[in-house]
Amino acid sequence: MIGGDAAGMSAAHSALRAAKAAGREARIVVLETTGDTSYSACGIPYWIAGEVASGDDLVARTADEHRAAGIDLRLHARATAVDTTARTVTYRQDETTHTIEYDELVLATGAHPVVPAWARTPAGALVAGVHPVKNLDDGALWTELLAGPARRAVIVGGGYIGIEMAEALLHRGLSVTLLTRSRVMGSLDPDLGELIERALVEAGVDVRTDTTVTRLTSVDGAVTSAVTTDGDEVEADVVVLALGVVPATELGEAAGVPVGIARGYLPDDQGRVAPHVWAAGDCCESQHRMTGERDFVALGTHANKQGRVVGDALFGGSRAFHGVLGTAITRFAAGGRVTEIARTGLSTRQAVDAGHDVAVLATESSTVSGYMPGAETMVTKVIADRRTRALLGVQIVGGPGAGKRIDAAAAALWGRMSVDDLAEMDLSYAPPFATVWDALQIAARRLAERI
Ligand SMILES: Cc1cc2nc3c(=O)[nH]c(=O)nc-3n(C[C@H](O)[C@H](O)[C@H](O)COP(=O)(O)OP(=O)(O)OC[C@H]3O[C@@H](n4cnc5c(N)ncnc54)[C@H](O)[C@@H]3O)c2cc1C
Repeated sequence: MIGGDAAGMSAAHSALRAAKAAGREARIVVLETTGDTSYSACGIPYWIAGEVASGDDLVARTADEHRAAGIDLRLHARATAVDTTARTVTYRQDETTHTIEYDELVLATGAHPVVPAWARTPAGALVAGVHPVKNLDDGALWTELLAGPARRAVIVGGGYIGIEMAEALLHRGLSVTLLTRSRVMGSLDPDLGELIERALVEAGVDVRTDTTVTRLTSVDGAVTSAVTTDGDEVEADVVVLALGVVPATELGEAAGVPVGIARGYLPDDQGRVAPHVWAAGDCCESQHRMTGERDFVALGTHANKQGRVVGDALFGGSRAFHGVLGTAITRFAAGGRVTEIARTGLSTRQAVDAGHDVAVLATESSTVSGYMPGAETMVTKVIADRRTRALLGVQIVGGPGAGKRIDAAAAALWGRMSVDDLAEMDLSYAPPFATVWDALQIAARRLAERI
């Protein structure tokens, strides 16, 4: 396995189990560039915020635990070349080049954070104070940076990592400016994105949409401001790069493994990408269940499942990965308010592009019975096909308790239900949890009636 995080280690353990079940012997070598394995990148913003005490808390299984399970884990070992004909991997460890042979190869190299040219010095290093948030080394660097005198932060990127970092940096007492080329949370429809933008602004974040960074200024090598296309100079002691990720496929590409439009590997439903070569996780494109098209959705939820499928397949298993819906959730908590943000299925734009006759409605309702303490407003947007009445997507923005409702919507989409089914499903109710018609059902019912 190349890559020792979610996908790679899931594959390794799944392969061990499958081999045991098949009465076969498995010799599994995992190469990992960093010194960490099985870490939750998802938890890094909460570590930076100070909500999680240490990076160690984010490690699900340590190197010792993997080794005790029988995995030959090689840390600080970076694979540099793959030869799919000779079936070898070349890697660098301790300044030495090694070559090992394989019977089956799993590519689980994840994704690279996007780092624009303006973030680098002429020598190619990152400008001091400017950094992405990707792995535990990045998390450690951010905790170090924030232990210093930094007061002003610029976040470049308005996706979920940008928002989670805005929350973290506000918690750390910094003033935060968020610059985004288009709008906040572009994976949601614009009207729901505006609700999130409003929450950020109310918490004191200076949000600038339709704003592109063109260069940085620095003094003695350390960043002092981000300069935008409008010529604005936004002062900054630190700059967070939250511009998204691209699949890390250079090893496979150089060895002739095909990639798709997003440059991710194109696994079949068991993870095979070439003879004796498999791939899982963020380095892959996945099939979107709503369109049948390939899509690049880099999430830990998929990486773990895909790794498990691949490990099983290595020893003749028949598990399969059944595609993605684009289900995702995050929150922005600051200034005593929590805004939960969730989506599943197609956005209105995606549904139109996929050729649907789209019916869409956003409905405001309450997270719990209005007379209960803690009742909060939530907005639920339901997207359906007017002709077939098929449910296509759901988006939610609202107070505590709103977001996880997306899972019922995801289950409905997974089961290919109609908007009427969602309106009529048997969902739970008691005053501290929901209204008698749950917010999701009120929204689905109103859209169904309108159609
Ligand atoms: C800040 C942040 C928050 C996130 N929050 C969420 C969330 O809330 N929910 C969610 O579902 N997902 C979230 N994600 C996404 C999730 O972390 C990823 O989808 C998941 O980690 C992908 O797992 P992976 O194993 O495919 O790739 P990675 O986690 O990127 O692991 C790939 C590993 O391969 C190693 N590697 C790469 N190249 C080589 C090489 N040549 N040789 C050896 N080793 C190599 C890397 O060092 C890395 O450890 C978040 C990500 C980040 C960065």
